[in-house]
Amino acid sequence: MLKNKNTLSRRDFLKATGLAGAGTFVSNLMHSARASEETWSVPTRPFGKSGIDVPILSFGGSLNTSMSPLLLRQAVKWGVTYWDTAHSYMGGNSEKAFGKYLGKFPQDRKKIFLVTKSWAWTLEEMTRELNESLERMRTDYIDLFFVHGISDISVIDDDTRVWAEKAKSKGKIRLFGFSTHSNMENCLLGASKLGWVDGIMMTYNYRLMHSDQMKRAVDACAKAGIGLTAMKTQGGGQVTTASERELQLAGRFLEKGFTDAQARLKAVWENSQIASICSEMPNMTILMSNVAAAVNRTELSSRDKELMLQYARETRSTYCAGCTAICESAVGVRVPIGDIMRYLMYCRSYGDRDGAVAEFRKIPIRIRKQMADLDYSLAEQRCPQKMAIGRLMREAIEKLA
Ligand code: SF4
Repeated sequence: MLKNKNTLSRRDFLKATGLAGAGTFVSNLMHSARASEETWSVPTRPFGKSGIDVPILSFGGSLNTSMSPLLLRQAVKWGVTYWDTAHSYMGGNSEKAFGKYLGKFPQDRKKIFLVTKSWAWTLEEMTRELNESLERMRTDYIDLFFVHGISDISVIDDDTRVWAEKAKSKGKIRLFGFSTHSNMENCLLGASKLGWVDGIMMTYNYRLMHSDQMKRAVDACAKAGIGLTAMKTQGGGQVTTASERELQLAGRFLEKGFTDAQARLKAVWENSQIASICSEMPNMTILMSNVAAAVNRTELSSRDKELMLQYARETRSTYCAGCTAICESAVGVRVPIGDIMRYLMYCRSYGDRDGAVAEFRKIPIRIRKQMADLDYSLAEQRCPQKMAIGRLMREAIEKLA
């Protein structure tokens, strides 16, 4: 649950191309942002049937960097008032950073749509984590509380519903839901049938949003009135790429006045069923760039979208789509292939090796020891993205162990 999706692609792009135009674009952006700083206001969309409007850009708090009150203050000024964190992020320091801000500017609490998550295994433990989150963030209530990172809707059972209703009746949470980056489509479809889930945050980007399965799942949630927040919208992969097509696409967007990272945000915002994008914004440049994309009403052309889709298809074997039910059942030992793919992405796409290593080391040592020698051929045959799973698992051991 980490890291910056925007910096690396931009950094890599600048490094790979050395395009003076790109640098000029960013400095022009900074200049125009300064000029219009007072007037920027991120648009809002309804969050499902909650009756709450949220900004289309949400401040993600999972980065291993300090979230300075200055950065958060500027986010509020620009209307980035949907803040996302988790009990586990940065060992609790993410929630504490939000708490520090809210302690200093208590008048802003009502403006903020505050989200946190719990990875607890039991409902008792989830209650303990919720109470701790409230304390850390110096607030009486959480606007939206998520069960963190589910991969199967069966964990959101009737006991969970009773827990959520109780927490709501006590005024500790306003809305309840879950986040998911594995088997997202099935989790969304399942939630749409439950009738009591308020919100979901899921992996969703230009690579995933066009499949029939994802479209059906998002439609079902929209019809059920579930608020949807997209995460991992940059579609960063497990294998580093710097293809000619990638550079051409980046150049095309720059000519239109966007960076490639901004274009990827725009692709997701094109779907009005998505209430918000959660993005890690560790510094003013990225905050500014994302806000600029949010306030800019210029839409991507159909050719832009076609080219993005074409690029996604050409590079599919570099990107894990999170369909872990397919590959993990094809390997004898319970290797969390999807999680390991995500850690590789943190390392290679977000540039956060330390965070990736920390997550990788949470995998039981017994499984880590077995991983290298397993036969992944059946999983590779079944993988719709045609990923070199065996090679990537061995690379994970080499890079992250
Ligand atoms: S490795 Fe392939 S099958 Fe497994 S989750 Fe990723 S894309 Fe899906």
